[in-house]
Amino acid sequence: MFKKILIANRGEIALRIIWACRELGVRTVAVHSEADADSLHVKFADEEVCIGPARATESYLNISAIISAAEITGAEAIHPGYGFLAESAHFAEVCHACNLKFIGPDPEVIRMMGDKARARAAMDAAHVATVPGSGLVDTEEEAESAAEKIGYPLLIKATAGGGGKGLRLVTSRQELRRFLPQVKAEAGAAFSSDAVYLEKYLVGTRHVEFQVFGDEHGNLVHMGERECSIQRRHQKLLEESPSPALDDVLRARMAAAALKAANAVGYANAGTVEFLLDKNKDFYFIEMNTRIQVEHPVTEGVTGIDLVKEQLQVAAGEKLSMKQSDIVMHGHAMECRVNAEDPVTFRPCPGRITAFHVPGGPGLRVDTAAHADCLVSPYYDSMIAKVISRGNNRAEAISRMRRALESFIIEGIKTTIPAQLRILTDPDFIAGNFDTGFMTRYQDKPATPPGEASDSDRTAVPAV
Ligand code: ADP
Repeated sequence: MFKKILIANRGEIALRIIWACRELGVRTVAVHSEADADSLHVKFADEEVCIGPARATESYLNISAIISAAEITGAEAIHPGYGFLAESAHFAEVCHACNLKFIGPDPEVIRMMGDKARARAAMDAAHVATVPGSGLVDTEEEAESAAEKIGYPLLIKATAGGGGKGLRLVTSRQELRRFLPQVKAEAGAAFSSDAVYLEKYLVGTRHVEFQVFGDEHGNLVHMGERECSIQRRHQKLLEESPSPALDDVLRARMAAAALKAANAVGYANAGTVEFLLDKNKDFYFIEMNTRIQVEHPVTEGVTGIDLVKEQLQVAAGEKLSMKQSDIVMHGHAMECRVNAEDPVTFRPCPGRITAFHVPGGPGLRVDTAAHADCLVSPYYDSMIAKVISRGNNRAEAISRMRRALESFIIEGIKTTIPAQLRILTDPDFIAGNFDTGFMTRYQDKPATPPGEASDSDRTAVPAV
Protein backbone atom coordinates (compact mmCIF):
# COMPACT_ATOMS: atom_id res chain seq x y z
CA MET A 1 0.00 0.00 0.00
CA PHE A 2 1.08 3.60 -0.60
CA LYS A 3 2.66 5.44 2.31
CA LYS A 4 1.42 8.85 1.19
CA ILE A 5 -1.01 10.12 -1.45
CA LEU A 6 -2.06 13.55 -2.67
CA ILE A 7 -5.74 14.39 -3.04
CA ALA A 8 -6.32 16.64 -6.05
CA ASN A 9 -9.75 17.83 -4.94
CA ARG A 10 -11.67 19.74 -2.28
CA GLY A 11 -14.90 19.55 -0.29
CA GLU A 12 -16.66 16.41 0.85
CA ILE A 13 -14.90 14.06 -1.58
CA ALA A 14 -11.46 15.19 -0.38
CA LEU A 15 -12.57 14.43 3.18
CA ARG A 16 -14.06 11.10 2.11
CA ILE A 17 -10.70 10.10 0.62
CA ILE A 18 -8.90 11.22 3.81
CA TRP A 19 -11.17 8.92 5.89
CA ALA A 20 -10.31 5.96 3.66
CA CYS A 21 -6.59 6.76 3.87
CA ARG A 22 -6.71 6.98 7.65
CA GLU A 23 -8.27 3.54 7.89
CA LEU A 24 -5.57 2.16 5.61
CA GLY A 25 -2.73 3.97 7.40
CA VAL A 26 -1.92 6.09 4.34
CA ARG A 27 -0.72 9.67 4.93
CA THR A 28 -2.50 12.42 3.00
CA VAL A 29 -1.53 15.65 1.29
CA ALA A 30 -4.31 18.18 0.72
CA VAL A 31 -3.97 20.78 -1.99
CA HIS A 32 -6.07 23.90 -1.77
CA SER A 33 -6.77 27.25 -3.36
CA GLU A 34 -6.28 30.49 -1.45
CA ALA A 35 -10.07 30.58 -0.93
CA ASP A 36 -10.00 27.14 0.74
CA ALA A 37 -7.17 27.73 3.23
CA ASP A 38 -9.52 27.19 6.20
CA SER A 39 -11.38 24.22 4.70
CA LEU A 40 -11.89 20.98 6.57
CA HIS A 41 -10.02 18.88 4.00
CA VAL A 42 -6.97 21.03 4.70
CA LYS A 43 -7.43 20.70 8.45
CA PHE A 44 -7.74 16.91 8.44
CA ALA A 45 -5.00 16.05 5.93
CA ASP A 46 -1.53 15.30 7.25
CA GLU A 47 0.07 17.91 5.00
CA GLU A 48 -1.17 20.79 2.89
CA VAL A 49 0.02 22.76 -0.10
CA CYS A 50 -1.57 25.94 -1.46
CA ILE A 51 -1.68 25.61 -5.24
CA GLY A 52 -3.08 28.94 -6.40
CA PRO A 53 -5.90 31.48 -6.37
CA ALA A 54 -9.60 30.69 -5.97
CA ARG A 55 -10.33 30.30 -9.66
CA ALA A 56 -10.25 26.54 -10.41
CA THR A 57 -8.24 26.98 -13.62
CA GLU A 58 -5.47 28.47 -11.50
CA SER A 59 -5.63 25.93 -8.65
CA TYR A 60 -7.60 22.66 -8.77
CA LEU A 61 -7.11 22.43 -12.54
CA ASN A 62 -3.51 23.63 -12.44
CA ILE A 63 -1.66 20.43 -13.36
CA SER A 64 1.88 21.72 -12.91
CA ALA A 65 1.10 23.12 -9.45
CA ILE A 66 -0.49 19.82 -8.37
CA ILE A 67 2.36 17.70 -9.70
CA SER A 68 4.88 20.00 -7.99
CA ALA A 69 2.97 19.64 -4.73
CA ALA A 70 3.13 15.85 -5.04
CA GLU A 71 6.85 15.93 -5.76
CA ILE A 72 7.68 18.33 -2.94
CA THR A 73 5.75 16.28 -0.38
CA GLY A 74 6.94 12.88 -1.65
CA ALA A 75 3.44 11.56 -2.42
CA GLU A 76 3.42 8.30 -4.41
CA ALA A 77 -0.05 8.54 -5.91
CA ILE A 78 -2.81 11.05 -6.70
CA HIS A 79 -6.52 10.54 -6.06
CA PRO A 80 -8.47 12.92 -8.30
CA GLY A 81 -11.92 12.47 -6.66
CA TYR A 82 -14.71 13.50 -9.08
CA GLY A 83 -14.94 16.63 -11.22
CA PHE A 84 -11.87 18.83 -11.77
CA LEU A 85 -9.13 16.57 -13.27
CA ALA A 86 -10.78 13.22 -12.51
CA GLU A 87 -11.54 12.51 -16.16
CA SER A 88 -8.53 14.21 -17.72
CA ALA A 89 -6.55 11.59 -19.64
CA HIS A 90 -3.81 14.19 -20.02
CA PHE A 91 -3.52 14.61 -16.25
CA ALA A 92 -3.39 10.83 -15.74
CA GLU A 93 -0.60 10.64 -18.33
CA VAL A 94 1.36 13.45 -16.71
CA CYS A 95 1.04 11.67 -13.34
CA HIS A 96 2.45 8.46 -14.78
CA ALA A 97 5.22 10.31 -16.63
CA CYS A 98 6.20 11.83 -13.27
CA ASN A 99 6.19 8.45 -11.55
CA LEU A 100 3.01 9.18 -9.65
CA LYS A 101 0.27 6.54 -9.68
CA PHE A 102 -3.03 8.00 -10.88
CA ILE A 103 -5.78 6.39 -8.80
CA GLY A 104 -8.17 5.54 -11.61
CA PRO A 105 -8.18 3.64 -14.90
CA ASP A 106 -5.65 3.74 -17.69
CA PRO A 107 -5.36 7.16 -19.44
CA GLU A 108 -6.29 5.63 -22.80
CA VAL A 109 -9.54 4.24 -21.33
CA ILE A 110 -10.31 7.65 -19.81
CA ARG A 111 -9.71 9.27 -23.20
CA MET A 112 -11.92 6.83 -25.06
CA MET A 113 -14.80 6.94 -22.60
CA GLY A 114 -14.52 10.72 -22.21
CA ASP A 115 -15.34 11.05 -25.89
CA LYS A 116 -19.00 10.06 -26.08
CA ALA A 117 -18.83 9.37 -29.81
CA ARG A 118 -15.81 7.06 -29.41
CA ALA A 119 -17.43 5.38 -26.41
CA ARG A 120 -20.57 4.71 -28.46
CA ALA A 121 -18.47 3.20 -31.24
CA ALA A 122 -16.66 0.97 -28.71
CA MET A 123 -20.00 -0.19 -27.31
CA ASP A 124 -21.42 -0.88 -30.77
CA ALA A 125 -18.36 -3.02 -31.46
CA ALA A 126 -18.87 -4.85 -28.16
CA HIS A 127 -22.59 -5.44 -28.96
CA VAL A 128 -23.84 -3.29 -26.09
CA ALA A 129 -26.94 -1.42 -27.28
CA THR A 130 -26.54 2.36 -27.58
CA VAL A 131 -29.22 5.00 -28.11
CA PRO A 132 -29.95 5.37 -31.85
CA GLY A 133 -27.96 8.33 -33.11
CA SER A 134 -25.57 9.75 -35.65
CA GLY A 135 -21.84 10.04 -36.10
CA LEU A 136 -20.27 13.48 -35.70
CA VAL A 137 -22.23 16.24 -37.39
CA ASP A 138 -20.56 19.46 -38.37
CA THR A 139 -22.71 21.46 -40.77
CA GLU A 140 -26.40 22.30 -40.66
CA GLU A 141 -26.98 20.08 -43.72
CA GLU A 142 -25.26 17.08 -42.14
CA ALA A 143 -27.24 17.55 -38.95
CA GLU A 144 -30.55 17.88 -40.78
CA SER A 145 -30.09 14.78 -42.85
CA ALA A 146 -29.01 12.76 -39.79
CA ALA A 147 -32.01 14.13 -37.87
CA GLU A 148 -34.41 13.02 -40.62
CA LYS A 149 -33.22 9.43 -40.11
CA ILE A 150 -33.31 9.55 -36.30
CA GLY A 151 -36.56 11.49 -35.91
CA TYR A 152 -37.50 14.18 -33.36
CA PRO A 153 -37.24 14.83 -30.46
CA LEU A 154 -33.47 14.43 -30.31
CA LEU A 155 -30.50 15.66 -28.36
CA ILE A 156 -27.52 17.53 -29.69
CA LYS A 157 -24.68 16.13 -27.58
CA ALA A 158 -21.14 17.43 -27.26
CA THR A 159 -18.77 14.45 -27.44
CA ALA A 160 -16.70 15.93 -24.62
CA GLY A 161 -19.72 17.09 -22.56
CA GLY A 162 -20.40 16.23 -18.94
CA GLY A 163 -22.21 17.33 -15.79
CA GLY A 164 -25.37 18.02 -17.76
CA LYS A 165 -23.55 20.54 -19.97
CA GLY A 166 -23.22 20.23 -23.74
CA LEU A 167 -26.71 18.71 -24.10
CA ARG A 168 -29.61 20.29 -25.94
CA LEU A 169 -33.06 18.91 -26.58
CA VAL A 170 -34.52 19.84 -29.98
CA THR A 171 -38.01 19.02 -31.14
CA SER A 172 -37.96 20.34 -34.71
CA ARG A 173 -35.76 21.18 -37.68
CA GLN A 174 -36.01 24.87 -36.81
CA GLU A 175 -34.72 24.22 -33.32
CA LEU A 176 -31.93 22.03 -34.67
CA ARG A 177 -30.79 24.88 -36.94
CA ARG A 178 -31.02 27.37 -34.12
CA PHE A 179 -29.24 25.34 -31.45
CA LEU A 180 -26.53 23.49 -33.40
CA PRO A 181 -24.16 26.49 -33.61
CA GLN A 182 -24.99 27.40 -30.01
CA VAL A 183 -24.12 23.95 -28.60
CA LYS A 184 -20.96 23.82 -30.71
CA ALA A 185 -19.85 27.24 -29.48
CA GLU A 186 -20.62 26.40 -25.84
CA ALA A 187 -18.87 23.03 -26.07
CA GLY A 188 -15.84 24.60 -27.74
CA ALA A 189 -15.56 27.11 -24.92
CA ALA A 190 -16.25 24.69 -22.05
CA PHE A 191 -14.56 21.49 -23.23
CA SER A 192 -12.05 22.72 -25.87
CA SER A 193 -13.82 20.58 -28.47
CA ASP A 194 -16.85 21.60 -30.48
CA ALA A 195 -17.53 18.09 -31.84
CA VAL A 196 -21.21 17.12 -31.52
CA TYR A 197 -23.49 14.29 -32.61
CA LEU A 198 -27.22 13.62 -32.46
CA GLU A 199 -29.01 11.10 -30.30
CA LYS A 200 -32.67 10.09 -30.27
CA TYR A 201 -34.34 11.58 -27.18
CA LEU A 202 -35.85 8.61 -25.38
CA VAL A 203 -38.99 9.93 -23.71
CA GLY A 204 -40.15 8.42 -20.42
CA THR A 205 -36.94 6.51 -19.66
CA ARG A 206 -35.11 5.99 -16.41
CA HIS A 207 -31.43 6.60 -15.72
CA VAL A 208 -30.10 3.37 -14.23
CA GLU A 209 -26.35 2.99 -13.81
CA PHE A 210 -24.16 0.09 -12.73
CA GLN A 211 -21.11 0.30 -10.50
CA VAL A 212 -18.29 -1.78 -11.92
CA PHE A 213 -14.89 -2.43 -10.42
CA GLY A 214 -11.83 -3.98 -12.03
CA ASP A 215 -8.31 -4.67 -10.85
CA GLU A 216 -5.03 -4.78 -12.76
CA HIS A 217 -5.07 -8.60 -12.78
CA GLY A 218 -8.06 -8.95 -15.09
CA ASN A 219 -10.73 -9.38 -12.40
CA LEU A 220 -13.96 -7.44 -12.86
CA VAL A 221 -17.16 -7.31 -10.79
CA HIS A 222 -20.33 -5.24 -10.65
CA MET A 223 -21.84 -3.90 -7.44
CA GLY A 224 -25.42 -3.53 -8.54
CA GLU A 225 -27.28 -0.50 -9.82
CA ARG A 226 -28.16 3.01 -8.78
CA GLU A 227 -31.43 4.61 -9.85
CA CYS A 228 -30.70 8.25 -10.74
CA SER A 229 -33.81 9.42 -12.59
CA ILE A 230 -34.61 12.26 -10.19
CA GLN A 231 -32.73 15.02 -11.97
CA ARG A 232 -32.98 18.71 -12.65
CA ARG A 233 -31.29 20.12 -15.75
CA HIS A 234 -29.94 16.60 -16.51
CA GLN A 235 -28.16 16.55 -13.15
CA LYS A 236 -28.93 14.17 -10.32
CA LEU A 237 -30.71 15.33 -7.17
CA LEU A 238 -31.56 12.03 -5.46
CA GLU A 239 -30.23 8.52 -6.05
CA GLU A 240 -31.08 5.12 -4.65
CA SER A 241 -30.25 1.45 -4.80
CA PRO A 242 -31.81 -0.90 -5.69
CA SER A 243 -33.86 0.68 -8.48
CA PRO A 244 -37.62 0.21 -7.98
CA ALA A 245 -37.78 -0.60 -11.72
CA LEU A 246 -35.57 -3.69 -11.69
CA ASP A 247 -36.38 -7.28 -10.94
CA ASP A 248 -33.70 -9.96 -10.63
CA VAL A 249 -33.93 -10.96 -14.29
CA LEU A 250 -33.57 -7.41 -15.61
CA ARG A 251 -30.80 -6.68 -13.08
CA ALA A 252 -28.84 -9.70 -14.33
CA ARG A 253 -29.30 -8.63 -17.96
CA MET A 254 -28.18 -5.06 -17.28
CA ALA A 255 -25.26 -6.17 -15.10
CA ALA A 256 -24.08 -8.49 -17.87
CA ALA A 257 -24.16 -5.58 -20.33
CA ALA A 258 -22.27 -3.33 -17.89
CA LEU A 259 -19.57 -5.98 -17.44
CA LYS A 260 -19.40 -6.49 -21.19
CA ALA A 261 -18.91 -2.72 -21.63
CA ALA A 262 -16.14 -2.56 -19.01
CA ASN A 263 -14.48 -5.73 -20.28
CA ALA A 264 -14.42 -4.42 -23.83
CA VAL A 265 -12.05 -1.65 -22.74
CA GLY A 266 -10.06 -3.68 -20.17
CA TYR A 267 -11.35 -1.57 -17.31
CA ALA A 268 -9.48 -1.28 -13.99
CA ASN A 269 -10.55 0.61 -10.83
CA ALA A 270 -14.00 2.11 -10.11
CA GLY A 271 -16.27 2.94 -13.04
CA THR A 272 -19.93 3.52 -13.78
CA VAL A 273 -21.81 2.35 -16.83
CA GLU A 274 -24.89 4.49 -17.41
CA PHE A 275 -28.00 3.26 -19.21
CA LEU A 276 -31.41 4.60 -20.11
CA LEU A 277 -34.11 2.04 -19.39
CA ASP A 278 -37.49 2.16 -21.12
CA LYS A 279 -40.87 0.75 -20.14
CA ASN A 280 -40.37 -2.33 -22.30
CA LYS A 281 -37.29 -3.19 -20.23
CA ASP A 282 -35.01 -2.35 -23.14
CA PHE A 283 -31.93 -0.41 -22.11
CA TYR A 284 -29.31 1.60 -23.91
CA PHE A 285 -25.77 2.63 -22.98
CA ILE A 286 -25.37 6.42 -22.70
CA GLU A 287 -21.91 6.83 -21.20
CA MET A 288 -19.28 5.47 -18.85
CA ASN A 289 -17.81 7.56 -16.05
CA THR A 290 -14.23 6.59 -15.35
CA ARG A 291 -14.03 7.75 -11.73
CA ILE A 292 -15.67 7.52 -8.34
CA GLN A 293 -19.19 8.98 -8.55
CA VAL A 294 -20.82 11.50 -6.23
CA GLU A 295 -23.47 8.86 -5.47
CA HIS A 296 -21.07 6.02 -4.58
CA PRO A 297 -22.27 5.94 -0.91
CA VAL A 298 -25.57 4.49 -2.10
CA THR A 299 -23.70 1.41 -3.33
CA GLU A 300 -21.66 1.35 -0.13
CA GLY A 301 -24.93 1.40 1.81
CA VAL A 302 -26.33 -1.73 0.22
CA THR A 303 -23.11 -3.72 -0.35
CA GLY A 304 -21.08 -2.80 2.75
CA ILE A 305 -18.03 -2.29 0.50
CA ASP A 306 -15.80 0.77 0.99
CA LEU A 307 -15.31 1.84 -2.62
CA VAL A 308 -12.60 4.40 -1.94
CA LYS A 309 -10.47 1.95 0.05
CA GLU A 310 -10.93 -0.54 -2.76
CA GLN A 311 -9.77 2.11 -5.25
CA LEU A 312 -6.57 2.66 -3.28
CA GLN A 313 -5.89 -1.05 -2.93
CA VAL A 314 -6.45 -1.74 -6.62
CA ALA A 315 -4.25 1.23 -7.61
CA ALA A 316 -1.53 -0.15 -5.34
CA GLY A 317 -1.59 -3.32 -7.45
CA GLU A 318 -3.64 -5.53 -5.12
CA LYS A 319 -6.32 -7.88 -6.36
CA LEU A 320 -9.97 -6.99 -5.82
CA SER A 321 -10.83 -7.94 -2.26
CA MET A 322 -14.00 -9.75 -3.34
CA LYS A 323 -15.42 -12.07 -5.97
CA GLN A 324 -18.78 -11.49 -7.65
CA SER A 325 -20.40 -14.13 -5.44
CA ASP A 326 -19.24 -12.25 -2.29
CA ILE A 327 -21.23 -9.16 -3.26
CA VAL A 328 -24.69 -9.32 -1.75
CA MET A 329 -27.07 -6.38 -1.58
CA HIS A 330 -28.91 -5.79 1.68
CA GLY A 331 -31.83 -3.42 2.23
CA HIS A 332 -32.18 -0.07 0.52
CA ALA A 333 -30.04 3.09 0.40
CA MET A 334 -30.89 6.58 -0.80
CA GLU A 335 -28.89 9.78 -1.23
CA CYS A 336 -29.99 13.40 -1.43
CA ARG A 337 -27.50 15.92 -2.75
CA VAL A 338 -27.99 19.05 -0.69
CA ASN A 339 -27.03 21.97 -2.89
CA ALA A 340 -26.76 25.67 -2.08
CA GLU A 341 -29.50 26.48 -4.56
CA ASP A 342 -32.91 28.03 -4.65
CA PRO A 343 -35.30 25.06 -4.16
CA VAL A 344 -37.68 26.31 -6.86
CA THR A 345 -35.46 27.69 -9.62
CA PHE A 346 -32.37 25.60 -8.74
CA ARG A 347 -30.17 28.64 -9.25
CA PRO A 348 -26.97 28.53 -7.17
CA CYS A 349 -27.16 30.57 -3.95
CA PRO A 350 -23.65 30.81 -2.55
CA GLY A 351 -23.07 32.66 0.72
CA ARG A 352 -22.10 32.25 4.34
CA ILE A 353 -23.62 29.43 6.39
CA THR A 354 -24.53 30.90 9.77
CA ALA A 355 -25.80 27.76 11.53
CA PHE A 356 -25.17 24.12 10.62
CA HIS A 357 -26.38 21.05 12.46
CA VAL A 358 -26.00 17.64 10.85
CA PRO A 359 -28.70 15.01 11.51
CA GLY A 360 -27.76 11.64 12.94
CA GLY A 361 -29.38 8.52 14.31
CA PRO A 362 -29.86 4.99 12.97
CA GLY A 363 -29.26 4.30 9.30
CA LEU A 364 -27.86 7.70 8.45
CA ARG A 365 -24.63 9.02 6.94
CA VAL A 366 -23.82 12.62 6.07
CA ASP A 367 -20.80 13.39 3.91
CA THR A 368 -19.97 17.08 4.06
CA ALA A 369 -17.12 19.52 4.41
CA ALA A 370 -19.44 22.40 5.35
CA HIS A 371 -19.79 23.81 8.87
CA ALA A 372 -21.15 26.84 10.69
CA ASP A 373 -19.55 30.10 9.57
CA CYS A 374 -18.13 28.62 6.38
CA LEU A 375 -18.46 30.35 3.05
CA VAL A 376 -20.06 28.46 0.16
CA SER A 377 -17.89 29.89 -2.58
CA PRO A 378 -19.32 30.94 -5.94
CA TYR A 379 -16.12 29.57 -7.51
CA TYR A 380 -17.01 25.91 -7.01
CA ASP A 381 -19.83 23.40 -7.23
CA SER A 382 -22.90 24.24 -5.16
CA MET A 383 -23.18 20.84 -3.43
CA ILE A 384 -22.67 21.26 0.32
CA ALA A 385 -23.64 17.87 1.73
CA LYS A 386 -24.78 14.38 0.82
CA VAL A 387 -27.34 12.79 3.09
CA ILE A 388 -27.46 9.01 2.78
CA SER A 389 -30.15 6.93 4.46
CA ARG A 390 -30.30 3.16 4.80
CA GLY A 391 -33.26 1.00 5.63
CA ASN A 392 -34.32 -2.61 5.59
CA ASN A 393 -36.55 -1.64 2.69
CA ARG A 394 -37.33 1.37 0.49
CA ALA A 395 -40.09 2.69 2.77
CA GLU A 396 -37.71 2.75 5.74
CA ALA A 397 -34.98 4.46 3.69
CA ILE A 398 -37.52 7.12 2.62
CA SER A 399 -38.82 7.75 6.12
CA ARG A 400 -35.27 8.02 7.48
CA MET A 401 -34.36 10.45 4.71
CA ARG A 402 -37.40 12.57 5.52
CA ARG A 403 -36.68 12.83 9.20
CA ALA A 404 -32.99 13.52 8.40
CA LEU A 405 -33.76 16.37 6.01
CA GLU A 406 -36.39 17.77 8.39
CA SER A 407 -33.79 17.98 11.16
CA PHE A 408 -30.85 19.21 9.07
CA ILE A 409 -30.29 22.80 10.20
CA ILE A 410 -28.62 25.01 7.57
CA GLU A 411 -29.08 28.74 8.02
CA GLY A 412 -27.79 31.70 6.04
CA ILE A 413 -28.21 30.21 2.56
CA LYS A 414 -30.98 28.58 0.55
CA THR A 415 -30.73 24.84 -0.10
CA THR A 416 -32.49 22.19 -2.16
CA ILE A 417 -33.84 20.49 1.00
CA PRO A 418 -37.44 21.81 0.58
CA ALA A 419 -37.50 20.40 -2.99
CA GLN A 420 -36.21 17.03 -1.82
CA LEU A 421 -38.71 16.88 1.03
CA ARG A 422 -41.46 17.51 -1.50
CA ILE A 423 -40.18 14.71 -3.74
CA LEU A 424 -40.09 12.34 -0.76
CA THR A 425 -43.81 12.87 -0.12
CA ASP A 426 -44.91 12.59 -3.75
CA PRO A 427 -47.19 9.57 -4.29
CA ASP A 428 -45.54 8.66 -7.61
CA PHE A 429 -42.09 8.81 -6.05
CA ILE A 430 -43.23 6.74 -3.08
CA ALA A 431 -44.75 4.19 -5.48
CA GLY A 432 -41.44 4.04 -7.38
CA ASN A 433 -43.25 5.27 -10.44
CA PHE A 434 -41.06 7.89 -12.15
CA ASP A 435 -38.62 8.60 -14.97
CA THR A 436 -36.13 11.34 -15.85
CA GLY A 437 -39.00 13.72 -16.69
CA PHE A 438 -40.24 13.60 -13.07
CA MET A 439 -38.85 16.96 -11.96
CA THR A 440 -40.00 18.86 -15.06
CA ARG A 441 -43.56 17.63 -14.65
CA TYR A 442 -43.27 18.12 -10.93
CA GLN A 443 -42.23 21.75 -11.07
CA ASP A 444 -45.28 22.47 -13.20
CA LYS A 445 -47.81 20.91 -10.87
CA PRO A 446 -49.00 22.03 -7.45
CA ALA A 447 -47.75 20.04 -4.45
CA THR A 448 -49.87 16.92 -4.08
CA PRO A 449 -51.46 16.60 -0.65
CA PRO A 450 -50.17 13.41 1.01
CA GLY A 451 -52.24 10.37 0.15
CA GLU A 452 -53.81 11.86 -2.98
CA ALA A 453 -52.99 10.17 -6.28
CA SER A 454 -51.45 12.35 -8.97
CA ASP A 455 -52.18 12.10 -12.67
CA SER A 456 -48.85 12.64 -14.34
CA ASP A 457 -48.53 12.76 -18.08
CA ARG A 458 -45.86 10.17 -18.72
CA THR A 459 -45.36 11.00 -22.36
CA ALA A 460 -44.61 14.70 -22.03
CA VAL A 461 -41.32 15.95 -23.45
CA PRO A 462 -39.66 18.15 -20.84
CA ALA A 463 -38.89 21.72 -21.87
CA VAL A 464 -35.10 21.65 -21.46
P1 ADP B 1 -23.60 14.09 -18.79
O1 ADP B 1 -22.33 13.48 -19.28
O2 ADP B 1 -23.66 15.58 -18.96
O3 ADP B 1 -24.00 13.62 -17.42
P2 ADP B 1 -25.35 12.14 -20.02
O4 ADP B 1 -25.13 11.72 -21.43
O5 ADP B 1 -24.90 11.21 -18.94
O6 ADP B 1 -24.70 13.59 -19.81
O7 ADP B 1 -26.88 12.45 -19.79
C1 ADP B 1 -27.36 13.12 -18.64
C2 ADP B 1 -28.85 12.94 -18.54
O8 ADP B 1 -29.50 13.44 -19.72
C3 ADP B 1 -29.31 11.49 -18.44
O9 ADP B 1 -29.27 11.00 -17.14
C4 ADP B 1 -30.73 11.59 -18.98
O10 ADP B 1 -31.60 12.09 -18.00
C5 ADP B 1 -30.59 12.61 -20.07
N1 ADP B 1 -30.31 11.97 -21.38
C6 ADP B 1 -29.10 11.75 -21.94
N2 ADP B 1 -29.22 11.14 -23.13
C7 ADP B 1 -30.54 10.97 -23.33
C8 ADP B 1 -31.33 10.40 -24.40
N3 ADP B 1 -30.78 9.92 -25.50
N4 ADP B 1 -32.69 10.38 -24.26
C9 ADP B 1 -33.27 10.89 -23.15
N5 ADP B 1 -32.58 11.45 -22.12
C10 ADP B 1 -31.24 11.48 -22.21
